[in-house]
Amino acid sequence: MIGKTTVQIKQAKSMLTVNQAESLILDIISPLDQTETCSLENVFNRVLAESVSSHLDFPYWDNSAMDGYAVKFEDVQGATPNQPVVLTVIEEIPAGRKPQLTLRSQQAARIFTGAMLPTGADTVVMQENTTSQGDRVSILIAPSKPQMFVRKKGEYAEAGKILLAKGTMIKEPEMAILATAQKNEVTVYRRPLVAIFSTGDELISPDKTLEPGQIIDSNQFALTSFLQGQGAIPLNLGIVADDRDRLRETMNQAINRADLVLSTGGVSVGDYDYVEELLKELGGEILIQSVAIKPGKPLTVARFANGCIYFGIPGNPVSALVSCWRFVQPALKKLSGLANPWRPNFIKARTKNSLKTDSKRETYLWGKVHWDDQGNAQFQGASGSHSSGNLINLAQTNCLACLPQGEQIIDIDQDILVMLIG
Ligand code: AMP
Ligand code: MG
Repeated sequence: MIGKTTVQIKQAKSMLTVNQAESLILDIISPLDQTETCSLENVFNRVLAESVSSHLDFPYWDNSAMDGYAVKFEDVQGATPNQPVVLTVIEEIPAGRKPQLTLRSQQAARIFTGAMLPTGADTVVMQENTTSQGDRVSILIAPSKPQMFVRKKGEYAEAGKILLAKGTMIKEPEMAILATAQKNEVTVYRRPLVAIFSTGDELISPDKTLEPGQIIDSNQFALTSFLQGQGAIPLNLGIVADDRDRLRETMNQAINRADLVLSTGGVSVGDYDYVEELLKELGGEILIQSVAIKPGKPLTVARFANGCIYFGIPGNPVSALVSCWRFVQPALKKLSGLANPWRPNFIKARTKNSLKTDSKRETYLWGKVHWDDQGNAQFQGASGSHSSGNLINLAQTNCLACLPQGEQIIDIDQDILVMLIG
């Protein structure tokens, strides 16, 4: 049967600008307020739900920044190669050993990098500026000032100072700081649970044999990886056919289980695009019906009474990823408890090929940014078709050129804005 007995033309959807859509999404997202305790070993890539201070000073105690001799500055300030100052070496202090003696006038202690400064010493002379014989050391060059090569107790941070603010993502430096502050257990936000599924009668999973007309569900894999990269927990609900009842059932399940739902496909104006009407049936408040962006126009966003936010994402593979990078990423950042900024990173770059924009929509063209020898960012668009169905030339791209609404050709060597991805 061709068509349907009653012809229903769907209403034109209201369209928001990219900025309006982004602001609206950020407005409706509230950070997760549930926290959990995480051991230090497992806290990488998690978001701090407490501010962290330490009971220790950093450095813990005065220590040497050089291999050399701990001295009193007043003893050695006149030293020159012609008139060296000779001191008596009273002890050797390797890193990790507590000094045993107090330094008196005309004395020095042999000291190594990181070792604790003995009481009475205020300066370190690097060993390159000395010669030694038995228990005598000759200081050949005077240090330029007192405290030279001494890392003072509390110089980097005093005990009690906030070292890491709530809302910080734990990366390599923060791991080191937590360890050094002896935070063996850390309070973090729980990770967002994000349900994800693909809709479409044509879809099969990659392990099935492709029959004519079918399409392999790549979105499930791209979006799952995207979520993992964002520190969210993906809840994969598979492929759902364009069947109202089955789709409704899966959507309902997703909305009741997850903080966020990402479904791909079924949000255009086609006869089999049921997502928006089912969102309404399920009690969702439709906030976004479409966005003036290319690719990714039919983005649909709804909010549910239980707090779940539903993203109905267009099915074309490039549209799906661009929607995630441009709109879902800020939402996830805010949801995760991360401190602002949640918006994507944009930089200025010079385009190395001419670019064509769409008249009515903000256009995102995928490509690669690299930095030349002068440190200037250069944008090279991906070669081949910039069709939203062409996922092949997305490979090895690292950014999207972001071109404003209004049809125009952007010439080679013009400056453009580029959104960094990944
Ligand atoms: P739709 O948004 O459902 O109209 O789908 C638009 C286009 O994207 C169609 O050509 C689909 O076959 C394709 N598509 C939809 N979902 C997926 C998917 N999960 N993986 C790959 N392609 C898809
Ligand atoms: Mg479809």
